[in-house]
Amino acid sequence: MENIFSGLGIDDSVFELGEEVLERIRPRFNEIDKVSEYNQAKVLLAMQKNQVSATCFAGTTGYGYDDIGRDTLERVYADIFHTEAALVRPQITCGTHALATALSANLLPGDELLSPVGRPYDTLEEVIGIRESKCSLKEYGVSYREVELTEDGGFDFDGIKAAINKKTKLVTIQRSKGYKTRPTFSVEQIGTLISFVKSIKPDIICMVDNCYGEFVEKIEPSDVGADMTVGSLIKNPGGGLAPIGGYIVGKAECIERCAYRLSAPGLGQEVGANLGVMTSLYEGLFLAPTVVASALKGAIFAANIYEGLGFKVIPDSKESRHDIIQAVELGSPERMKAFCHGIQAAAPVDSFAIPEPWPMPGYDNDVIMAAGAFIQGSSIELSADGPIREPYAVYFQGGLTWAHAKLGILMSLQKLKDANLI
Ligand SMILES: *Cc1c(COP(=O)(O)O)cnc(C)c1O
Repeated sequence: MENIFSGLGIDDSVFELGEEVLERIRPRFNEIDKVSEYNQAKVLLAMQKNQVSATCFAGTTGYGYDDIGRDTLERVYADIFHTEAALVRPQITCGTHALATALSANLLPGDELLSPVGRPYDTLEEVIGIRESKCSLKEYGVSYREVELTEDGGFDFDGIKAAINKKTKLVTIQRSKGYKTRPTFSVEQIGTLISFVKSIKPDIICMVDNCYGEFVEKIEPSDVGADMTVGSLIKNPGGGLAPIGGYIVGKAECIERCAYRLSAPGLGQEVGANLGVMTSLYEGLFLAPTVVASALKGAIFAANIYEGLGFKVIPDSKESRHDIIQAVELGSPERMKAFCHGIQAAAPVDSFAIPEPWPMPGYDNDVIMAAGAFIQGSSIELSADGPIREPYAVYFQGGLTWAHAKLGILMSLQKLKDANLI
């Protein structure tokens, strides 16, 4: 067997270990390709139905009134997610911004927000006011409750029932594990939770943080009762091409409020020039099912490699997948650094840089991030990150192509080996 990667510094033993693992997991790749094929058709159908044309790619400026490209893209998203409405904008700067917009648009003073799946993603702590912040929901008089998951990562239905009260207005459900080592929820599980919540109080708005989950399954949270489904365009649905943006899809009533919150009361979706990014948003969405499939193959490959070496991996080597994240509990900051060094060294951009932990805005712990990405911080591109805290887990994700994801994982292993850490 020829080690094509030797020129990049990957020695024969690492390469051969990769080949052995790959042989075992090939059958799972067929399943992933089938889902990707299904989602490709879903995206294509939505684009055709809405008559996407070259005029949709024209840049607009100023107020952006009558922006055909922007308005059509929103209809395409609404069709893919089977929702009444969609807000898809380059003015939504990131996933946190999309989530903050959805929450602050639909919660008023005196309302309560409930997370029935434990503590939400780190950056939402300041949005909600769990960690003090200016302009948090707490500052605006919105209270917050959370119900921990059960020990095995399931929903605590009794606890959730007890937590819902007359103030409970909105329930936020995070699909992906974030920087936790809990399982990611399947769309079906999310559907069960939404039905349960609505059986107790039918008018509760259910919002799902869908970051990293798009196109992993054939259905999305909006197919199982979510009133708002929210995500970032520099993750899955941007397909690696979107240079910025976020989306919120769901009930027209909720989305209209989001648009008013994002721009201004009375203006809503009518304003917001596209500044010439439309081609990337459409083309990225078109590629997204394939890119997500590549990332999933990479995640499964990583799980099998690292589990084989004795590390705890979440999900494990055989589990079904509901997002593109692969957590590997490396057990020490040194191993986290070496792993991230490998991912960085495999990048097409900034491969010469060595990642160091730093206090990123919105996070409580220092965070290390490896991302030699074409789009800054894009984590649908090959990347790895994690907060420097117990259990010293690194979160690996992305890879615009499967071949690159594979190379990155081999390189992470090589750097661990070079540093005598495995
Ligand atoms: C990435 C992520 C976010 C926040 O997105 P940013 O684009 O980094 O602001 C929120 N929730 C989850 C689960 C995420 O993975």
